[in-house]
Amino acid sequence: MSELRKNAIIASVSRDQLYGTNVFTLKDMANSLPKPVFASFLRQMRGRQTLDKATSDAVAHAVRIWAMDRGATHFSHWFQPQTDTTAEKHDSFLTLKSTSVLNEGVHAIDTFSGSQLLQSEPDASSFPSGGMRTTFEARGYTIWDTTSPMFIQPQANGTAVLYVPSVFISYNGDALDEKTVLLRSGETLSRAACDLLNLLDPAPPGHPRVVNQVFTTLGIEQEFFLVDRALYALRPDLKICGRSLIGNLPPRHQQMEDHYFGKIPSRVVSAISEVELELYKLGVPLKTRHNEVAPAQFEVAPIFEEAMIAVDHNLLTMDALHKVAHRHKLKALFHEKPFSGINGSGKHCNWALSTDRGENLLEPTEKPETNYRFLLFLVAVLDAVHKHGGLLRAGISSASNDHRLGANEAPPGIISAFLGEHLTEVLHSIEESRPVKNFSRPEIQSIKLGGRVLDVKVSTLPNIARDLTDRNRTSPFAFTGNKFEFRAVGSKQSPSFPVTLLNTAVAASLREVSAALRAQMGDRPYPTDADKLAVIKKFIASSRPVCFEGDNYSSAWAEEAERRGLQNIRSAPEGFEQLLEKSNHSMLIKEGVFNESELHSRYHILMERYAKDVLIEAGTLISIINTTVLPAVFEYRQVLASAASALSQIDGDSSPERRLLAELAPVVSKLQADVAKLDEVSKEVANIDDAPKQSHAAYKQILPIMEAVRAGADFLEYRVADKYWPLPKYTELLFTS
Ligand code: ADP
Ligand code: MG
Repeated sequence: MSELRKNAIIASVSRDQLYGTNVFTLKDMANSLPKPVFASFLRQMRGRQTLDKATSDAVAHAVRIWAMDRGATHFSHWFQPQTDTTAEKHDSFLTLKSTSVLNEGVHAIDTFSGSQLLQSEPDASSFPSGGMRTTFEARGYTIWDTTSPMFIQPQANGTAVLYVPSVFISYNGDALDEKTVLLRSGETLSRAACDLLNLLDPAPPGHPRVVNQVFTTLGIEQEFFLVDRALYALRPDLKICGRSLIGNLPPRHQQMEDHYFGKIPSRVVSAISEVELELYKLGVPLKTRHNEVAPAQFEVAPIFEEAMIAVDHNLLTMDALHKVAHRHKLKALFHEKPFSGINGSGKHCNWALSTDRGENLLEPTEKPETNYRFLLFLVAVLDAVHKHGGLLRAGISSASNDHRLGANEAPPGIISAFLGEHLTEVLHSIEESRPVKNFSRPEIQSIKLGGRVLDVKVSTLPNIARDLTDRNRTSPFAFTGNKFEFRAVGSKQSPSFPVTLLNTAVAASLREVSAALRAQMGDRPYPTDADKLAVIKKFIASSRPVCFEGDNYSSAWAEEAERRGLQNIRSAPEGFEQLLEKSNHSMLIKEGVFNESELHSRYHILMERYAKDVLIEAGTLISIINTTVLPAVFEYRQVLASAASALSQIDGDSSPERRLLAELAPVVSKLQADVAKLDEVSKEVANIDDAPKQSHAAYKQILPIMEAVRAGADFLEYRVADKYWPLPKYTELLFTS
């Protein structure tokens, strides 16, 4: 069938019918497995038993039939090494069977066994391990993560691959990936939250606990740029580094504030629609699409899901955007700062906690008694952000996000929490043991619409009406009605690591809240309201310094934060040091999310990656300047010089060409000298073999010279005639949609 016809048919099928068709859902599994086998699988998935061979064989058989019906020829364990992307290796279902030892009567059949489903062994030596394994003991295993559904991905040639979401661990069981630690952090958070919930609301003797599991929920807003692929292909810096290393802003960029929520360009709408279609089939509930603040910048956001699934789905979203953009002759740029001087991209992680009964624990409900529960969870989150702000900063640190954090439109390296006027007042009133101020502001209570007065309900203060949480787009960590929005996360990074650190820190604080409550209760079987209030008060007071309602981009905040004792971490290497900082380190290990060697290995991987990123950028910049920019400038100078000499009879020594040449000469000489210096310093840094030292040196020594080189090149871009300038400019890159 022709592509066009197929697309037309697909488009005519309503989207709800397509939703999840490429996912092997529990329902598909239930339909294809004998009842007792399915029941046994469910018990395993819920952590109540280990998976036996008979069950895994049956599931493998069922999923193979399901996948082959949809064109699958191969399967792949799909996992998340510490590279911010996913990894896969395809194995075909093909097996050769022979009826005799002499290989007579060999015939091919398709098989997929339970053990193939459960485990695979990629050569782990080529993935980052931070020195945890040397190459000669490079065993690593991928193991099926039964909590995340399997799915098929169609390939360009019409076949398909069955994906088995997996974790990636070493021979000793150490986590080599992002997913294992995220799963562990979800588990420890669930236990700590359940403990507090059951303390607040104990089950009568002989009855089961009211809440058995608490899930982290995550809604991930993904920002990105889309640029014309042909222009992109002419920019080695975009191709190699994902960001432009030189280039000036055009006179008009985002000042008019006309791109945000503006009309989405038609090529972009077509591409994003196609992305949505692919993702619906994969069960990714993409919901929103819109223009972002900068020209050529866009955002998509799904409906929130349980964190592990949300992370899988975010990675699939980035992959689909990347692939589909290609088909539309566009290039998706996920870098946090592809273009200097205009907004960068983030990945806002909307984060909340939900019980197994579907209650959002960060939802400020209307009943005062449940508000104490809300407030206890709220102060636990604030306590976590206060005590481990440095750690949260580590989780969002990278060479690329450094260009965004602290730039004038992004949260700085200071981690603080925003609560909104309303909630802040609630906390203050509790702290000061006074009634809550009345918030009945008339302009909020009712909105006049064409003469009609609509009553918008304003609850008394402890019940925070969702519509009333005002917004602060400058805060790195903002409460937005019934969830926190962790806005400082980088657009390019996997959301897994920052969420792992957040979950773990909150788990530790929840335990402290529970301990304080137990101490307060003394011999009482359950806490009174006064006990709860006393604990809430204590935590409000201790976490007060981390709450900030003002403008996080202002320099006054940096000074104020310092007075409050908050850290202002300016560089990624400084951020990574936070992983080994005493209180963070012991908390992560005590919570069982990392062991000693995993934490050190991660620290090394991050340091190593930072240094590599900076060195690659430096190398790219050197090559662009030496092989593209300088030759173009020389050519232009030659033209000017010929003109000046041809016209010297007329102009004498003061021809306009000569003036321009005189203006260019010192800049060109300085650029040459700066590039030579960059080359020399890069070589020195490349020779440092201690990763942390190398990373700090890259930050301190290479970045400032790169800035100087850029300044020279950008000056020349303004002065050299357009026809000699060899690289597409920001104007073309940002305004060709
Ligand atoms: P806002 O406009 O305030 O950012 P939206 O409702 O558009 O809020 O939500 C932004 C993202 O937050 C969406 O992905 C949404 O699904 C997600 N979200 C909403 N509620 C929750 C929750 N309880 N937990 C996690 N994410 C949530
Ligand atoms: Mg938002």
